[in-house]
Amino acid sequence: MSKKTLIVGLTGGIGSGKTAASDYFKTLGICIVDADIVARDVVETGSETLLNIEQHFGPSVILDDGSLNRAWLRQKIFENPEERHWLESVTHPAIRARIVSLLEQASSPYSILVSPLLFESGQDELTDRTLLIDVPESVQLERTAKRDNNSTEQVDAIIKAQMPRRERQQRADDIILNDTTLEQLQQKCLEYHQYYLKSANDQE
Ligand code: ATP
Repeated sequence: MSKKTLIVGLTGGIGSGKTAASDYFKTLGICIVDADIVARDVVETGSETLLNIEQHFGPSVILDDGSLNRAWLRQKIFENPEERHWLESVTHPAIRARIVSLLEQASSPYSILVSPLLFESGQDELTDRTLLIDVPESVQLERTAKRDNNSTEQVDAIIKAQMPRRERQQRADDIILNDTTLEQLQQKCLEYHQYYLKSANDQE
């Protein structure tokens, strides 16, 4: 990747505050690349990846409007790990290529890649530093259940399926503990913003 600027990888568990943090960095003029949005975009109607998926799984994987039948596909790969591997072998490189391209187009002094699976997917290899938005599980449960109107049992099951908090803390370069107010979160983001600006400047 022909890298021009410093890239920060921002991650955290479900409901940790990744969006709240990245929205704030955006207001500071920082270009944000969201891995979840990219993952959706690479299988958009008419894309090469979607065509590839249709050729492999057949017409059932496409809805009448030409878009991906996510529910059908989810069930298929849930039942068959080999199909999951095949799907990932097609989607992961496409996602990575699109992320690299978007990061290369970023025009702010540094840019941020937001990814819930930053470490799990190896996307941290694309970044210079990693920033973890960290919260205790009890806060994750409370905020996510409230936001999504889900039961705490559903959220708890998702938390258990994700990388353990301790492991994320060990892997991250920088950590923001987001267990108080949004104002506090923004204040801590601002401090890191100044630090990243300086690092980006020193890197030139
Ligand atoms: P997901 O992984 O599910 O996309 P996320 O990490 O992007 O979640 P957010 O959506 O930013 O998390 O935050 C989860 C919820 O908690 C949102 O409703 C958000 O407004 C709220 N929230 C985040 N930080 C705080 C805070 N410091 N104080 C109060 N509410 C907060």
